Amino acid sequence: MKNVLTLMLALLFIAGSQVQAQEDYKDLHKKFEYTIEKKHEVLNIEYDNIRFKKRPKNIILFIGDGMGVAQVFSGMTVNGSLNMEQMPFIGFSKTQSADNYVTDSAAGGTAISAGKRTYNGAIGVDVNGEKLTTILEYSERNGKATGLVSTSAITHATPASFIAHQPKRSMYEEIAGDFMNTEIDVFIGGGADFFTKRVDGRNLVLELNEKGYRVGYNIDEIAEVNNGKLAVLTAVGHNAGYRDRGEMLTKSTSKAIEVLNNADSKGFFLMVEGSQIDWGGHQNDASYVTGEVLDMDKALAEALKFAIEDKRTLVLVTADHETGGMTVNDGDPAKGSVKTGFTTGNHTAVMVPVFAFGAGAEEFIGVYDNTEIFEKMYKLFKFKEKDKD
Ligand code: MG
Ligand code: ZN
Repeated sequence: MKNVLTLMLALLFIAGSQVQAQEDYKDLHKKFEYTIEKKHEVLNIEYDNIRFKKRPKNIILFIGDGMGVAQVFSGMTVNGSLNMEQMPFIGFSKTQSADNYVTDSAAGGTAISAGKRTYNGAIGVDVNGEKLTTILEYSERNGKATGLVSTSAITHATPASFIAHQPKRSMYEEIAGDFMNTEIDVFIGGGADFFTKRVDGRNLVLELNEKGYRVGYNIDEIAEVNNGKLAVLTAVGHNAGYRDRGEMLTKSTSKAIEVLNNADSKGFFLMVEGSQIDWGGHQNDASYVTGEVLDMDKALAEALKFAIEDKRTLVLVTADHETGGMTVNDGDPAKGSVKTGFTTGNHTAVMVPVFAFGAGAEEFIGVYDNTEIFEKMYKLFKFKEKDKD
């Protein structure tokens, strides 16, 4: 009798967990589907009728963190098309790091920013921990204005790898400190606490003020600022996801371009990151991934419009790696819906796209290592080979 009772309890338990597993499956299945709430309008550019200069005076580099071809195509499917499609020169970047076939964003960012493969976790340093000079620093050295915009904390791996030099990506306070060692003209992103609530007691916002920066905490609050040094710390940590941060990325991109273009300088370098495409990928969440791709694509329109007017600007869109092993299993552009699949909660090893537009864009055709993106930008900016560190 006792045994029968145990058996019955065991069977009840198994049945219960199966119901639970089915519920989980339903949730998971829903997470793989996305229907767009509101489509954004895409530019209609007659590229062949624009006379771009051969070499750029300005470069605007967009990094969609974790944005592989499926992430882009999911955005294309639900929106009908993307601004990225208006960029006619396309290549593929191989993302492997020095110590891992699958890179993280620190090594991936450093390869693009400084042209050297390094170990996962490294911020602007090589495999021996030696400081690498980044395209942002070379730009500054050569009289250009510089800027960083990010939807994560500005101290997070991707923006950090353009301006900081630290052995570990988690050293956020040290990374914030490294901003003080440069003359960066504009930076906009989260991470205010790493500037003010620090173990070493320094208040980097006061230091920024002393260095002549206008410091804001909200992109709308600095709407009237159109020149000088500008730091906007838009969140204490990371910014909210695309649903809750409004047009932060588009406004920040357009503000950064305006301020950099007004700087008394020989052109500018600007990196803009769509950080959270990666986080959506880690969560295997179709709406998070796709919504973040669309958000970056809206911001991209600001750069493309500027480049069309300016004619001496190169706009690039690429990624540091793919996240989630995402695929698009089905879709309906008329309904704005997509069905996706994921193979992992981590990054993957596959190549990522490079879209190029404007002055010097032809150089980005082909299949190459991520480090080549740095080399191509360096050459196009006409920085001298002998001046390289
Ligand atoms: Mg990132
Ligand atoms: Zn990631």
